[in-house]
Amino acid sequence: MSTANRIARLRDALGPTQLDAFFVSQPENRRYMSGFTGSAGWLLVSKGLAILATDSRYTEQAESQAPDFQIVQIAGTVGTWLPPLLEEFGEEVTRVGFESEHVTHGSYGRLAPVFSDAGKEMVSWENLVEDLRVFKDDAEKEALLKAIRVTDEAFEEVRESLQPGQTEREVALKIEWAFRERGAEGEAFESIVASGPNGAMAHHRPSDDILREGQPIVIDIGAKVDGYNADMTRTVILGEPDDTFKRIYDIVLTAQETAIATIESGITGDDADALARNIIEHAGHGEEFGHALGHGVGLAVHEGPRVGRGASDVLREGMVFTIEPGIYISGWGGVRIEDVVELRDGKCIMLSSATKWGG
Ligand code: ZN
Ligand code: ZN
Repeated sequence: MSTANRIARLRDALGPTQLDAFFVSQPENRRYMSGFTGSAGWLLVSKGLAILATDSRYTEQAESQAPDFQIVQIAGTVGTWLPPLLEEFGEEVTRVGFESEHVTHGSYGRLAPVFSDAGKEMVSWENLVEDLRVFKDDAEKEALLKAIRVTDEAFEEVRESLQPGQTEREVALKIEWAFRERGAEGEAFESIVASGPNGAMAHHRPSDDILREGQPIVIDIGAKVDGYNADMTRTVILGEPDDTFKRIYDIVLTAQETAIATIESGITGDDADALARNIIEHAGHGEEFGHALGHGVGLAVHEGPRVGRGASDVLREGMVFTIEPGIYISGWGGVRIEDVVELRDGKCIMLSSATKWGG
């Protein structure tokens, strides 16, 4: 884990912001910047210092996981432990950015007077660390690839055992078991197994409904490995598909393959979305594709870059995101196909490789 490199990138990012330091409390951002996986702690990073403040439950863990940070053991209220820390940063640090999307109103109310007493100002800032996280480094790619491989393998195993009469819940359980058997720490999110009409709901939770022949089954799953999340969807059918399934499946697959083949570095998330959406719209199903084409994925299942209608994020080399068009028809069901891709040498490289229906 190259956290020294990440600290350097954060310091570079501070340059244009007029901030002298940044205060990090969001769990994934904290882990990304420091390597520390504990559930409590604050990072304070300036041009000269990088401090991880955590309580006695975590100091030993922090020392081993976050060697690029100075570990400070804290106790009591912020009014107790924060003033000496702020003093360490000296008078040249006055404007301190904080994650306005993640610090609660209550926390802000406790922190702001402490900063102010120390002659410093808390400056609300969005996405400073998130914007670093969109570019995956080698260590991250390795973890992501592991999560994706576990997901692909678990899917192949479970797909072969699918039978009419099994409940959605049973299938979801088998998937989780297959993840764990392969060393995953768990699921990236609660698996979606949606058969027949349930597939029309993009976020259906597995139920006691049973799988039936001739109905589409949407399976959206992801393993979590070393903190990194996979995210993959396949739509399968047991028995003989009818003409509706073949037609809808073909539109969604064409939309997905077209997006993967034609997305290039430098286009926006909105442009990328349109590449797939145009195909679905021309086929007369635009109204039934109600979500974004994809999303970045990493320490969080949904992170930057945004890949959807209206997303101005520019897709760049080294970004990793999903491509997941779908068509959802009320009363019938849904078809969604989702893979994770990486932008490399200007084009999308497929990271997932689970078999698609008919393939
Ligand atoms: Zn998914
Ligand atoms: Zn997804």
